[in-house]
Amino acid sequence: MRVVEVRSINKLKRKITRAGRMAIDIDYFLTVLEKEVGHYRVPVVDLIAVQTNDPYRILTATILSARTRDEVTAKAATRLFGEAPDPAALARLGRERIEELIRPVGFFRNKAAYLADLPGVLKRDFSGRIPETVEELCRLPGVGRKTANLVVAVAFKKPAICVDTHVHRIMNIWGYVKTANPTATETALRRKLPQKYWLKVNSILVAFGQGTCKPRYPHCDRCVLRERCPKIGVMPRKVPNLKPGGNASR
Ligand code: SF4
Repeated sequence: MRVVEVRSINKLKRKITRAGRMAIDIDYFLTVLEKEVGHYRVPVVDLIAVQTNDPYRILTATILSARTRDEVTAKAATRLFGEAPDPAALARLGRERIEELIRPVGFFRNKAAYLADLPGVLKRDFSGRIPETVEELCRLPGVGRKTANLVVAVAFKKPAICVDTHVHRIMNIWGYVKTANPTATETALRRKLPQKYWLKVNSILVAFGQGTCKPRYPHCDRCVLRERCPKIGVMPRKVPNLKPGGNASR
C-alpha cells in the first residue's frame, strides 16, 4: 500500500471515537452555527453586555436569568436597573423592594435575597468592585460556576467556558464530550475545545438550543447540521403535515 494511503487511513482512524462514531469537526460545527444564529434572538445577558458593557449589570442579569425565560429576565432587569443602576443604589432598595421589581423571575425570593446581600459582600471583600475571576465570583451570594464563567467571559472577555444546560446537552448530542453533568463538561471542554471558542460557545449554543436544537424534540428536519450530526440520544420532533413530495409546515 502506498505511504500516502496509509497516512489517510490512519488519519481517518484517529477520527473514529471509541464508541465507533465519527468524531465531529468542531471547527465546522461552530463556524456554521455562529453564522446561523446571527439572525436568532440574542441571549439577554449578551444583549445587556452589548448595551452597557457594565460588569454589575451583567452579573445581576445573569443571576436573574437562571431558570427564567429571556423575555421575563429582560423586563425584570429593566425594572431593577431603573431604580438600582449601581451597587450603591441596590443596597438602598432592600430585599422586599427588589422582590417586587424582579417578580416573576424564577425563584425571585431567593434571588432578591442574594441581590440584597450583594453590595455588602462587594464592599467588604472586593472594595466595591465586581471581581474578575471565577473563584472570586463564586464567593458572591447566588453565584455558582456557571454564572461566574459567564460573567468572566461576557463582562471581562477573559478565557472562560460557561457551560449551561444547552452547552452540556448539545456537546453530548454531538459526541464531542461524553459527560454526566455540566461541571464535567466544563472540565472536558477546557481540555479539548480550542480557546478561540471559549468566549462565544455559550452564546452560540444557547441561541441554537433555544431556536433549533431544543431540549425536547429538536428541529433536526431544518437544522444546518443534520447531515453531519451524530444525534446521540436524540428523539427528533415529528414533522407535522408531511405529505409525499410536499413540504413540512413549520
Ligand atoms: S441535527 Fe438535530 S440533534 Fe443535531 S444539532 Fe441539529 S437539531 Fe440538534
